[in-house]
Amino acid sequence: MTVDTVFDKIIRREIPADIVYEDDLALAFKDINPQAPVHILVIPKQQIVKISDARSQHRDLLGHLLLTAQQVAEQAGLENGYRLVINDGADGGQTVYHLHIHILGGRSLGWPPG
Ligand code: AMP
Repeated sequence: MTVDTVFDKIIRREIPADIVYEDDLALAFKDINPQAPVHILVIPKQQIVKISDARSQHRDLLGHLLLTAQQVAEQAGLENGYRLVINDGADGGQTVYHLHIHILGGRSLGWPPG
């Protein structure tokens, strides 16, 4: 079951966001609570609740989202590297239940994550 989220409202332009990229399938915008100098979210316009819900029919879309993240990271000037993160469910720390890829960069990132 899908539930309307804050990201669906951003897609429909019902609430503002700092959008940095858009095409037919995907949207990218700056995270409202950045955890690094560059923190951008890439989302599908089609609602997939979480990565563990993705199925083989989403193969092309998931590939598109990764390549979009690569392109947005390059556009953001992250030539020294960056991290892509997908949080899934409660233990993964997911808070917005519309699939999204975090692009984090602009500083050296620690490992392991908390
Ligand atoms: P996650 O914890 O992986 O579900 O990540 C959700 C992310 O969405 C968090 O990093 C939030 O800061 C971010 N977020 C929540 N609401 C908004 C919003 N209105 N605009 C931009 N980013 C948001």
